[in-house]
Amino acid sequence: MAFDSFFNAELDRLRDEGNYRRFAELERHRGAFPAATRHDGPSPSTVTVWCSNDYLGMGQHPKVLAAMHAAINEVGAGAGGTRNISGTTRHHVALERELADLHGKEAALLFTSGYVSNWAALGTLASRIPGCVVLSDAGNHASMIEGIRHSRAKKVIWKHNDLADLEAKLAALPAETPKIVAFESVYSMDGDIAPIAGICDLAERYGAMTYLDEVHGVGLYGPRGGGVAEREGLMGRIDVIEGTLGKAYGVMGGYIAASAALCDFVRSFASGFIFTTALPPAVAAGAQAAVRHLKTSDTERRLQAGRVASLRERLDAVGIPHQPNPSHIVPVMVGDPVKCRWISDLLLDEFGIYIQPINYPTVPRGTERLRITPSPVHSEADLDRLTSALATLWDRCRIARVPMAAQ
Ligand code: PMP
Repeated sequence: MAFDSFFNAELDRLRDEGNYRRFAELERHRGAFPAATRHDGPSPSTVTVWCSNDYLGMGQHPKVLAAMHAAINEVGAGAGGTRNISGTTRHHVALERELADLHGKEAALLFTSGYVSNWAALGTLASRIPGCVVLSDAGNHASMIEGIRHSRAKKVIWKHNDLADLEAKLAALPAETPKIVAFESVYSMDGDIAPIAGICDLAERYGAMTYLDEVHGVGLYGPRGGGVAEREGLMGRIDVIEGTLGKAYGVMGGYIAASAALCDFVRSFASGFIFTTALPPAVAAGAQAAVRHLKTSDTERRLQAGRVASLRERLDAVGIPHQPNPSHIVPVMVGDPVKCRWISDLLLDEFGIYIQPINYPTVPRGTERLRITPSPVHSEADLDRLTSALATLWDRCRIARVPMAAQ
């Protein structure tokens, strides 16, 4: 192929930088998560997964599995079409109602992933509202960035979580310009949380629409799992809440929840909604079971918070640096792409611990890290094994450890 030499040169460059992505090939077993069998090593081996976004283990929850089995038995495998052309089933409609209720909104609209929700919904709003300017937090996810880029609307980037910068940028725009302030609740790589109330204050003062990505918040925060905005009593002040069904809800799919008019508008104009096959009904049924369960059960959220606190304490005790934040994401900082890849490989090969390294361009150069996501299904013994493996590799890699007691 004429371009293969170009492709290979670019891939070699990634390898030299330590940024080439290799996937661990995992086989999960029903009820055994976070244990999995790894098939990409010399022979199959058992590993413990520490980097899953199935944050609460809902992907293995009996209610979710039962709902999916029942839906497959009832209606078969696929949706059979786009939502418009025969692909809307009662499972899709019921899930949209469940999600609208979760966020206290008039309506919700499903997409095939969280990525597509952002790309399609934000892109459609930005391109179809005449003269719209999008004010985008500098830390926003690629799906929002691509949606805005695709919309060709003017984009103004404000400093990450910086209210003064957002205000300056809002004030610099003409009062009559339609504006959307786009941001996340929990930022996935640092685990920090946006000042949502302050952003709402500013958006209201300057007449901007608010678009909040709660992908790392839904299911996990708030009394019913409605996200950080629910926890802080702010859902009513957010115009569009976007979420995923693929992380805390353990299945797949994405959505927006908003006014009936806004959802109908996006449904009617977003190509990423219109021209693609609907989610399989069983996926919608499984996701609805997960959303329903987490509306009333706090057990998983409490267990997860306990595991997160335990891991942080253990890391402090052995002097492994981790970024403090108020969320469930524990970023263990390495600061070097090659060492980060190396530690991740050794964890997998020698200790049966799987944590994918997070390198540039996912995070800025020099902030390479292991992103650890403790869940209710990790045991105290798992935590002990993880901490001791990290301490061993830190020493082997000659990265300084400063236990809390010595600070
Ligand atoms: N938004 C954010 C902030 C994300 O981190 C991600 C995925 N990592 C997405 C959207 C996309 O969600 P999904 O995985 O459901 O496509």
